[in-house]
Amino acid sequence: MNNGYLFKKIDAIVCDYKEEIIGLARDLVKIPSENIAPDGFEKDAQEFLYDKFKDINNIELDKFTPLEVKGIQDHPAYFKGRNYKDRPNVVGQLKGQGGGKSIIFSNHMDTVTRNPLPWKENDPFSGKIKDGDLFGRGSFDMKGALASTFMLMKIISDLDIGIKGDLMVESVVDEENAGSNGTLASRIKGYNADVAILPEPSMLSICPGGKGGKVYRVFTEGKAGTGYGGEQLVNPAYGLGALMRSISDYSDYINTSAKPAGHYYRDEKKPREVILDKVQIGDLSPGGNISIPDKAWFSIFIQSLPGYSEHDLDEEFRNFITDVSKKDKKVFPAEPEVVGLTRYLWPFETDPGHKSIPILETALKKWHNTAQVEGAKFACDGFIFHKYFSTPTIIFGPRGGNAHAQDEFVKVDDLILMTKVFLYLVLRWCEGEI
Ligand SMILES: [Zn+2]
Repeated sequence: MNNGYLFKKIDAIVCDYKEEIIGLARDLVKIPSENIAPDGFEKDAQEFLYDKFKDINNIELDKFTPLEVKGIQDHPAYFKGRNYKDRPNVVGQLKGQGGGKSIIFSNHMDTVTRNPLPWKENDPFSGKIKDGDLFGRGSFDMKGALASTFMLMKIISDLDIGIKGDLMVESVVDEENAGSNGTLASRIKGYNADVAILPEPSMLSICPGGKGGKVYRVFTEGKAGTGYGGEQLVNPAYGLGALMRSISDYSDYINTSAKPAGHYYRDEKKPREVILDKVQIGDLSPGGNISIPDKAWFSIFIQSLPGYSEHDLDEEFRNFITDVSKKDKKVFPAEPEVVGLTRYLWPFETDPGHKSIPILETALKKWHNTAQVEGAKFACDGFIFHKYFSTPTIIFGPRGGNAHAQDEFVKVDDLILMTKVFLYLVLRWCEGEI
């Protein structure tokens, strides 16, 4: 079937489902599913989606919590310390006729919390659409895309489109806060394919690579009190302040010395983001005394690039903190402690020659006029597929803004566009005719 004919057919088909795609995205946004580590509240949204899946004919449907998957806690990628009661993954599978390649679209249902509040565009779960943007927590990351991929499966089933390879669409729990165990659970359970598409918010860039990263907490210790009795006190705030001031130097240093392996991050100007996100000095609970505190800490997320192991990142950051602390014995009577708060999200890169990439490019050029292929700007669960299950992994998702902030939104038109691009991809990759 030639592309001209196929494009026309896809346009006509997806046009009929436009309202349903947008409606589902809004419905999903209206159901909170916040990840408040170590807990997560995805259940209501997952049950809603599960019921929707039940209406798709001829699919195999599965629902299971990560801890119901045998052997998960022994897997090297399992991250301890999270609670999984009432946190089910949902996976829908449309079996192909055989002889074609398989594909999985992997979404996560959890979102970051509604904070910071208040939002300007109604409340975080309004699902309001204004000037072509759908607002709400998770709209951009990634319920809009989840709606697109769910509807992709529904369209293929509704219209009885025969495909040779298997098609899977999943919605996992616990992706935010570097959980990744939801994604891991589905892989161990056997939902693997010849290529994985993660529709994370890539601003319509085709991203065969993703960054890595890890969250650390850095502690400085002091000698608490007021000194009324003549004690020698040390205020840990001074050490912490010195370290925090040095973080912009650290950021400059790791960005000017970055040596990414592979293809996609070589020419990026500032490839490694550093986010200093929380700080605490002393006891903030009610009744805190006027006193020099005994300890202080800040937490920081540091991105890494293909070619950086967890050990590389740990060493690089610890050495920097040690060097700063050695320069001033007065404010650092003891060496600051650096503790990893999350797992390491491994950076990854899929072979730039992977055959799914030109298919996506062709479709994107048709419906977006241009197609950019680059490394993603963020870290996500792609490494679970790529590193631990040898699955070529591509990130491709919509445009929008304010992820993890107030007034998160996604461009509604992109949800339609993605459904078209993905339908084309499935027909070409899994081999199907319409
Ligand atoms: Zn995401």
